[in-house]
Amino acid sequence: MTAQIIDGKAFAATLRSRIAAEVAALAGRGITPGLAVVLVGEDPASQVYVRSKGKMTREVGMASFEHRLPAETLQDELLSMIEQLNADPAVNGILVQLPLPGHLDESAILSAILPEKDVDGFHIMNAGRLATGQKAMVPCTPLGCLMLLRDHLGSLSGLNAVVIGRSNIVGKPMAQLLLRDSATVSIAHSRTKDLAVVCRQADILVAAVGRPNMVMGDWIKPGATVIDVGINRTEEGLVGDVDFDSVRAVAGAITPVPGGVGPMTIACLLANTLTATARVNGLPDPE
Ligand code: NDP
Repeated sequence: MTAQIIDGKAFAATLRSRIAAEVAALAGRGITPGLAVVLVGEDPASQVYVRSKGKMTREVGMASFEHRLPAETLQDELLSMIEQLNADPAVNGILVQLPLPGHLDESAILSAILPEKDVDGFHIMNAGRLATGQKAMVPCTPLGCLMLLRDHLGSLSGLNAVVIGRSNIVGKPMAQLLLRDSATVSIAHSRTKDLAVVCRQADILVAAVGRPNMVMGDWIKPGATVIDVGINRTEEGLVGDVDFDSVRAVAGAITPVPGGVGPMTIACLLANTLTATARVNGLPDPE
């Protein structure tokens, strides 16, 4: 058996064109969604992400505001920039690119963003809303994973889901989303005993670890759906957390790296910006 490849790149392109159509419809009402991205410092990977976020934002017809600040920017300076963006009616979404330089207090910065404009979904208010089943801004990467899972599996109700990783950015919100869809969810992490045994229970396995090719074929329940969130730069190029070849021989479906979850993350950022724009204008959430 060879797993079906879940084509995140194609799914993301379709999602972006749906978003572009909704943005065009909003233009008829005189509304242009705006996304502000703040980059502090010169981290090369962050620069690449910010550039491609700006490009895709403009491609769907939204306004893109890019703010590049020097690495030595002070906490107060960054906070006052966020206050300006909070108050700016042209800005519907605010994203502060992580990681921030070490002297800045990341959680204080993220908490300064208005929850309604928090399109990354990292504000404690949005994390709390998601955990309590209320309307929230949902972090982009897990939201993208959920869309791929729903598209591939239909209902997730009653399925055994294992998420490897418990970060606030990926693992925890992923688990919340799976729970919201009535999967039976386990969260594994670096202290989990017998990880392979835990993974073999999974109908849905989401790997968000940051260790190249860690998940092996003999960890997989035959026919399982495997979502590989990992992005690891190695001498062989970009690889995921899942050993693609051995897992592909056992799983029912698998996301590739690159071309799986990665493209979904930016598409979901645009989807969240559209949602934020609809909500502030009293319109229903986009489909
Ligand atoms: P973190 O480093 O914040 O979290 C990694 C998690 O993996 C932790 O919970 C950690 O456990 C767990 N872990 C580490 N080693 C092991 C192990 N040997 N066995 C089991 N669990 C382990 O990473 P992120 O959540 O931010 O990102 C995870 C991966 O996803 C990275 O490769 C990142 O590049 C990628 N990523 C991809 C995105 C995309 O758009 N595709 C977006 C965001 C991230 P513990 O808590 O115990 O330390």
